[in-house]
Amino acid sequence: MSKIKIFALGGLGENGKNMFVVEVDKRIFILDAGIKYPSVDLYGIDAVIPDFTYLIENKDRVQGIFLSHGHEDHIGAVPEVLKQMNVGVFGTHFTISILEDLLQEEGMKVADHRLYRINDDKELKFGNINVVFYNVSHSIPESINIAIKTEDGAIVYAPDFNFNVRQDDRYRTSFHKINEVASGGVLALLSESIGTSNINRINNDYAMTYTINEVLQTSEKRIIFSTFSSDLDRIQRIINIAVENNRRIAIIGRKAQKIVNIAINSGYLKIPNGKLVNLKFIDDKNTNDDDDLVVIVTGTRHEPFYMLQRMCRKQDRLIEINENDQVVMVTPPVPGTERMAAKTLDVLYKRGAIVTNITKDMLRSSHADANDLKMLYSMLKPKYLIPVIGEYRHQYQQKKVAISAGFPKEKIILMDNGDVAEFENGAYRTSKDKVSTGDVLIDGLLVGDINEVVLYDRGMLAQEGLVLINVVIDARNHKILSGPKIVTKGLIISDSLEEVTDKVANETEKIVKSYLKKKYIDWNSLKNDVREKVLKLLRKLTKKRPIIIPTIIDVEI
Ligand SMILES: [Zn+2]
Repeated sequence: MSKIKIFALGGLGENGKNMFVVEVDKRIFILDAGIKYPSVDLYGIDAVIPDFTYLIENKDRVQGIFLSHGHEDHIGAVPEVLKQMNVGVFGTHFTISILEDLLQEEGMKVADHRLYRINDDKELKFGNINVVFYNVSHSIPESINIAIKTEDGAIVYAPDFNFNVRQDDRYRTSFHKINEVASGGVLALLSESIGTSNINRINNDYAMTYTINEVLQTSEKRIIFSTFSSDLDRIQRIINIAVENNRRIAIIGRKAQKIVNIAINSGYLKIPNGKLVNLKFIDDKNTNDDDDLVVIVTGTRHEPFYMLQRMCRKQDRLIEINENDQVVMVTPPVPGTERMAAKTLDVLYKRGAIVTNITKDMLRSSHADANDLKMLYSMLKPKYLIPVIGEYRHQYQQKKVAISAGFPKEKIILMDNGDVAEFENGAYRTSKDKVSTGDVLIDGLLVGDINEVVLYDRGMLAQEGLVLINVVIDARNHKILSGPKIVTKGLIISDSLEEVTDKVANETEKIVKSYLKKKYIDWNSLKNDVREKVLKLLRKLTKKRPIIIPTIIDVEI
């Protein structure tokens, strides 16, 4: 008999930044730790992570972070968490490999952290609580769902999954394991909501395969594909069809190349010898436009679009798109990138390229639809249902799906980030507790193909120094809670540093206060304002141009 609390630090009422917490008596289990991108196109500069102050304050009780799969909205915040607390991380081989890469990108040492590779045969023991896993299908290999088995039944975390039958082992659902979990009784199911409104979405990629095949068989020229780096199974499919058509393949996109390398090294992605080419920079002799070439342009969110535009404008060092090129877009826009996607089509058409646009309705969704969810309910038979992952309308939609599947209304718990669902001896009761949550904006060196920007920044850093500005605010109540706190690194000046940082703090305070007067805060323009005005001030005071990184944390109380 135990006391269980379930809440989200991120991932409810929003798309991304997934981070869920299950507390069983004194033990804390963290499920995923993801990032989210701001809802406007920012050309890969900023990202948002959950405010996890609660976990830092209770770090002695944390048993581990359990990762469901390697997408950024589920693992992107792990490096930030590990910077602040030493805790074990559990995930499948593929997920941990991607995480290792993220840590290295952050300049962190993999060996300093406790990363554990698990699979669905593993059962982890934490006192009288066992944690088990089952494999699910998603768009990236080795995705799992997680079950925390307590005396009162299991808490099952079922984020991104679907029940489409797959031929490839590494994408296959382990149904027998789901039954095993079910046989011990399930207290609560936290299942994803994002795909619940996908009605009539197809459950295969035949249309895509057919179209790509047709393009490859009719074209005698170079073909360029745009893809999202998270869609590893689609990238594999394009590679397979390209190889069948005697093509050589080049993959462009810094981040994707890394994921592809991990996938090749772990045997998840198969490219026959000699078929993968490394492109050299364009020069007099080398134009990278051989007729047998298939170029796969990959990245997250806006990146593939941005890269295609750059290629049309002759700004890319590897590919210049011209009127001989066939471009196949396998990048149906996600919320926030619609404008960028439409603009890219314009730029491509203007350049005279032949464009095939594979739209969302031609592609299988990698998320659970209503039928997948109903099937999971019927297999697991949970006592309570907590719809997670997605905007509130998606959570609400899942509630409707569950009711239509015969699930009792009063056993479906709709929550916001920070709300706490409490179970005592297996019975639910509403809790007045609220855990403080919020968005932490970080300068996302995690994201994007921004090599040049980063290099430029590093160069500046050596010469001019770095200024970190931290402010904690309560946007809803229009208050600064702490700061501005100014930390400088390598800023060498002749005057008193303290005097300068005081002035920077005053200037920042002024700007933040002016934004707090507004009804809605535009985070990006706030950060840009701080950056620009502080830079101006520092130039005047010190004749230096340091890099300025404002971190503004909004805490909801
Ligand atoms: Zn995912």
